[in-house]
Amino acid sequence: MNEPAKKPHILVTNDDGVQAPGLLALVKALQPLGEISILAPERNWSASGHQKTLSRPLRVRKTALADGTPAFASDGAPSDCVALAVLGFFEDKLDMVVSGINPTNNLGHDVTYSGTVTNAIEAAIWGLPGIAVSLDTPKAGEVDYGPAAAVARRVAAAVLEHGLPRDMLLNVNIPYKPLEELTEYRITRQGRRVYRDVLIRREDPWDVPYYWIGGEFPTGIPEEDTDVGAVEQGFISITPLHLDMTAHRHIHELRKWDFRLDERSK
Ligand code: MN
Repeated sequence: MNEPAKKPHILVTNDDGVQAPGLLALVKALQPLGEISILAPERNWSASGHQKTLSRPLRVRKTALADGTPAFASDGAPSDCVALAVLGFFEDKLDMVVSGINPTNNLGHDVTYSGTVTNAIEAAIWGLPGIAVSLDTPKAGEVDYGPAAAVARRVAAAVLEHGLPRDMLLNVNIPYKPLEELTEYRITRQGRRVYRDVLIRREDPWDVPYYWIGGEFPTGIPEEDTDVGAVEQGFISITPLHLDMTAHRHIHELRKWDFRLDERSK
């Protein structure tokens, strides 16, 4: 008789903090797929980007999700949590990292800011399949993560079945709709965000200026084959991202430039 195949070991993490409801929904949805371990930041780090904490020790403490599921929380950044998990915090080797469910979408240039996405990037750096899951939630009211969690399970099952090529990760964005209406998906490319940030300058009680970057929620250019366009049309968007950020199309042109130090540079 054959030994039963080892269940896949899946790390569930996020950037919103271990107690975020999107993480609990993701954990519950993925439980049938394998052995789930949870290690997430102890607070919200949204828009923290990709980080590696080198200047101080990282602490990890035991905690539990709202339904009692045991979990671990770290005072490190989201990507630190992935590194901790991959580098041996858990005895069993990991097979996949799923990050989310983020309560807002992560489209276009957001992938450079998003802790949700950088968790999947960190997984790819360590040679593991990584999936970032974000929900295009309306801006007010209580969020139902159920439909998005079901989509996340489907995508995670497909990744377990097929694997992902090295250096690749998936950025999944899900429209906010009931499950029965989430029937269509698009494989997309990364689109373009339009940020609406403004720089606000004020003065503190000692007349010293301070600055605050803020503004309306970004929009985007809804080109048909992009993540921005797909979500705007109500489709699930699955974007394969790659760690290679080289602008390949411009290597040839750049090689024609002259960067040598000469008389002009003295
Ligand atoms: Mn977030």
